[in-house]
This record gives sequence, structure tokens and C-alpha cells, in this order.
Amino acid sequence: MPDFEPVIGLEIHAQLKTETKMFCRCRAGAFDAPANTNICPVCTGQPGTLPAANERAVELGIRTGLALNCLINEVSVFARKNYFYPDLPKSYQISQYDKPLCGPGFIEIDLKDGGAKRIRVTRAHLEEDAGKSLHALGSEELDHTLVDFNRCGIPLIEIVSEPDMNSPEEAYAYLTELKQLLEWTGVCGCDMEKGELRCDVNISLRPRGETKLGRKVEIKNLNSFKAAKDSIVYEISRQAGALARGETIAQDTRLWDEKAQRTEPMRSKEMAHDYRYFPEPDLPPLRVTAGRLEAAKKEAGELPRAVRARFQRDFALSAYDAGVAASGRELAAYSEACMRLAADSGLGAKPVINLIGGEFLARLNERKIAPPDIAAKAISPAALVKTAALVSAGKISASAAKTLFTKAWDTGKDPEALLNELGLAQVSDSAQIETWAKEAIAAHPKAAEDFRAGNEKAIGPIVGVLMKKSKGRANPQLAGEIVKKLLL
Ligand SMILES: [Zn+2]
Repeated sequence: MPDFEPVIGLEIHAQLKTETKMFCRCRAGAFDAPANTNICPVCTGQPGTLPAANERAVELGIRTGLALNCLINEVSVFARKNYFYPDLPKSYQISQYDKPLCGPGFIEIDLKDGGAKRIRVTRAHLEEDAGKSLHALGSEELDHTLVDFNRCGIPLIEIVSEPDMNSPEEAYAYLTELKQLLEWTGVCGCDMEKGELRCDVNISLRPRGETKLGRKVEIKNLNSFKAAKDSIVYEISRQAGALARGETIAQDTRLWDEKAQRTEPMRSKEMAHDYRYFPEPDLPPLRVTAGRLEAAKKEAGELPRAVRARFQRDFALSAYDAGVAASGRELAAYSEACMRLAADSGLGAKPVINLIGGEFLARLNERKIAPPDIAAKAISPAALVKTAALVSAGKISASAAKTLFTKAWDTGKDPEALLNELGLAQVSDSAQIETWAKEAIAAHPKAAEDFRAGNEKAIGPIVGVLMKKSKGRANPQLAGEIVKKLLL
């Protein structure tokens, strides 16, 4: 088969985190509201109503553009995108067309080989969402389609990339990086199940070395990053097969069928669009003054990529550990506070990040502590660093450290004081460990026999019993050595 190069572009719709809708005062975040309760004459297109642009949405749009290294256009224009569909009561969507809020920019993604690649962003523009059709065709109670207008007018930013990605992995990396940027800057909640982030893929193939683009196919309805990646993998093999057989690729719009793991063409009727864009006569051009742009730049702060680079530089973290420490804005602030304390006390950053990436994140998850609550509800950085120092100095075993960590978190007590209070200090006393080892061997005669017969792995359950008897306090390395010595 000839060698084909995939060429991939992505279009993302992200819901802006505003209190109210794009052009009216209906609530924007009411995901669970009963159908058609969160609507008004403006967002349902009643005659005589006028839209007014949501200032906060514009602010968040500017912030998004800055995060994507975009040019922010001083003047942008809202436009009507005309099409007829039951979930669009006005019969047009207010969007931006030839004069978007954010002009060209780029996102940098990390490649597997350790390098980075710049993916150009064509534009990012503001628009409103449409409603939702609920198809219940064929069901017994209902054989028609219902429409819920609650989503009509929800503010969105559409982010369009250039076709700069050449593999499913690059597309996945772009989506991950973009999601982190949107969450980090607080512009979008990014919950794909709630439809806060939606993704369309454009993909074509061309013979490697060719510079002209092939016929592109659009894939819609991707409700997870995994679905986006899987659909790209599928399309590459489908298109390569067709091209190798000498067929031409039909330029169509396809849907991803999650169950069948393949794309299916949409009915052509649904894609024959001529939107007849024209400037929205009811809204003035959007102006971004220099002062407003400056304020937005100040508000944007340091972006995740810069923080990761700084952590690698200042705290000698690996790229992986820097990614763990800075996987969110609040977590990055917490990690940094911990690493600074550790540096002051002569402890390196590594034991601290091990504890944050392991027990700390597991507890946050278990206790459903959202990132904004980390500062108020999590263990103090000082207590975390002290626990990490005890592990690092071998004063406590890794398993006992879990108990100590949780206790320190819950009681707010000093980990060193708790270590004695709970009797969790690591036992490295050979005589004591030998006593436990003898009991453990007696409890597992079969395993002891197997080990003596040459099965090295048989030692596992014996050491397990020993650790249990010591309540996790035995020095694990010493425990292993002593059990071996007794068995041989
Ligand atoms: Zn409304």
C-alpha cells in the first residue's frame, strides 16, 4: 500500500463559563433544568426582541484568545448564519464570520519523542448555541421529535485549527492541551458529558511528500477525546484502503458510531448548507479597547506550559513530574508551595511530588474535593512536606505513610508528633523483624517449601504476612532479606 500522510484539523466548541446566556439574561449553566424552562422571548426569537451581547462572554472570549496566542481583533462583527432546523427558533444563529474576535494564533503540543510542535489556530469566535432535538422515533410512548430550547443562546467560543496535525496522537495531544488551557484560564468547565466541550474533526490523506491537500471528510458528534482519536484511526484506514484501490474519497460529513467503532455518512440533505452569512443588524460591531485588552492580559496570568517549564527549571523536575505538579491551576499553586517548603528544609522536590501524584490526588478524588477547594480542604503543604520527609529519611514505610498522611490530613496534627502517637515509626530492629518472620513462615509452610524448591516468587505471601503482623511498620527491604536468610 502506498504511504499516505493524514492531515487533520479540529474544530472545538467550548461553552463559556458565564452566569447568563450570550444575548439575553436567561441562566446559562442550568444543565439539568426541565425542558423549555430556561428560555425567554430573546433566545426563542420572538418578533420585536433585540439581543445584547454578554460582557462577561466577551471577556472570556478575549481570555481564550490570549491563552491561544491569538491576535485579538480591535473590531469584530457578529453575523447571522442562516439555516432552517427545528432546534433553531430564529432560523439563524448569531455567530461571527469574516471578522472574528480572535485572529490567528497557535497552541504548542508535546510530542512523544520529547519535542514540541506548534499547531496553528486559524481563529476563535463567539457564537450562540442552538437547542436540542430529542428524537424518540420508534418508541411506544412517543413516535415524534421534541425540541428543548434551553440551550438556545448559550455562549460558545468556536476554536478552529489549521490542518497541522498528522496523526491521531497529535490530535489527541492538541485536545488535551486545549482542554487544560480552557480549564486553567477558567473560561470553560470542559465537561463533555454536559456538552460543554464538543469536537469535530476534518481529515484527509495525501501521498507522503505531496503538498496539495486531499479531499477532506468531516466527522461530527464526537463526545470524548477517545472517540475523536478512534474515529481518526478508523478514517485513516478507511481512506487509505479506498485510495489504494484507486477510488476517490467523497467529500462528506460523517458520524462516529461508538458501538460499531466506525464512521457512517450523514444523509447528504443534512449537509447541503448555504448559510448566507450577513452582518447582524441588531448588534453593533464589537470593540476591544487597548485598556480592556491590557486588563485581560493581566488577568490571564501564567499559562500551564510556562509553569511546567518553570517547575522543571527551578525544582529540577522531569517533564512527567512537572506535568503532574501542574495538571491544574490550583494544584500547581499547591505543589509550588510544597516544593518551596521542601527546598527550604533541604528536601528535594521529588519525594513531595511522589506524594502529591500518589496519595494526595487519590484522597482528593476519594473525597470529591474540587480544585478550587484544595487550599481550604486539603492537608496543609507543611504537613505534606513533613510526611514526605519522614518517608524519604526511612523513618516510616510507604504503607504506614498512607495511614499517617490520612491522619495528619484529618486531624491537622503534626506528622512527626503523630508518628510517635500512633506508633507508626518504621521498625529496622533485626531481632523484632526475625520474630515476625518466623511467625509468617510458620503460617505459610507451602510457600516456604516452594521457595526452597527454587520458586523465588513464593516469598511474596510470607513477606505480606510479616508486614501485616508489623502493622506495616517493618522496614520492607530488611524484612525481605531476613525471610530469605531464614528460609535458606
Ligand atoms: Zn433567554
